Amino acid sequence: MYQIENLGRATSLSDEAMQLMHEHEIPPTPSNFLVWYEYCRGSEPQLKKALDILLSNHASFTPERNEEIFTRFFVANDEVAEVANAGVALERQIGKVRQSVEQATQDQGEYGRKLAGYSDDLDAMAPERVKTLVGEMMQETESVVEKSRVLEQDLATATQEIEELRTSLNLVRAEALTDGLTGLANRKCFDQRLRDEAAQAMESGADLTLFLLDIDHFKAFNDTYGHTVGDSVLKVVARTMKDGVKGQDLAARYGGEEFAVILPNTKLEAAAVVAEQLRVRMAGAELKDTKSGKSFGSVTFSIGVAQYRLGEPLGDLVDRADAGLYRAKETGRNRVVTEVEVADEPLAAAG
Ligand code: GH3
Ligand code: MG
Ligand code: MG
Repeated sequence: MYQIENLGRATSLSDEAMQLMHEHEIPPTPSNFLVWYEYCRGSEPQLKKALDILLSNHASFTPERNEEIFTRFFVANDEVAEVANAGVALERQIGKVRQSVEQATQDQGEYGRKLAGYSDDLDAMAPERVKTLVGEMMQETESVVEKSRVLEQDLATATQEIEELRTSLNLVRAEALTDGLTGLANRKCFDQRLRDEAAQAMESGADLTLFLLDIDHFKAFNDTYGHTVGDSVLKVVARTMKDGVKGQDLAARYGGEEFAVILPNTKLEAAAVVAEQLRVRMAGAELKDTKSGKSFGSVTFSIGVAQYRLGEPLGDLVDRADAGLYRAKETGRNRVVTEVEVADEPLAAAG
């Protein structure tokens, strides 16, 4: 990403960045400096756009926000890009070598044809001994061509190996973002995706909603039927969520028996409808042991829903969804509560 600026321009960009940080009470740490230097330099349009929105909203630059901006634009992407680039660069390199081997094979083929031509000429005017000599030379040439063929084959194998390596790398990367028990996206994937979707929403002004879901009285369920049955319930909940959300939405296992759904391009009310459908579906399902047919009754969950406010720290969004979840638990469980309901009835918490 970095190009060397001339001293004068670098100094003035640096001054400008320091000035902005000072105005907005942002500590001039190396990471903050990088963010604001790049902002002044204007070479990262997405960073510029995101900060412009924050500035025009008179957002305050808390340490969490500063950290989030730095991570979003300078850490997370680099890590992924580096792995991907390694594979591409290697393949490009192999491609070049292959090309030169192909060229060499072709050149040698021509060399062989020329020699054959000489052989015909010599046939007419030279003694037997010369003909033998040329024959030997041709044999030699053929062996060189054969060697090149082997080399080319080796390279083709190497290219294929790299391709396989890349596939398994992608697989490992996918596994690192997947929860082992339920197969849903894990917390790391959730965090990355929420950051990306928030950046996207800031750019486009689109709606983005989140809900947090927590299984009701799950401890009691575990205590009654055992941890293994509890694990199966987590899988059933995960399946219900996966089936209940549409293409661009992301369902994730947030923690032990807590789940989350990110709904891009979705308003609070619409997300609450999705949440309510999930709730109804789960509460209406009777859980049974597949082998013995023994019934475990039903399991319910509570959900809190909140919509992203452009430019806010993502922790605030999660906190509002969590407040909805808390309210749902407090008011009887097996419920969906949105941030609007929490805000409209602030006293309910005391009752
Ligand atoms: P509430 O309705 O208030 O959410 O009650 P709760 O019992 O669900 O909540 P609490 O936080 O007291 O207990 C959560 C339980 O979830 C405790 C733990 O046994 C269970 N749990 C968390 N992770 C797992 C898991 O991976 N497998 C199983 N079987 N249980 C888990
Ligand atoms: Mg819990
Ligand atoms: Mg619970």
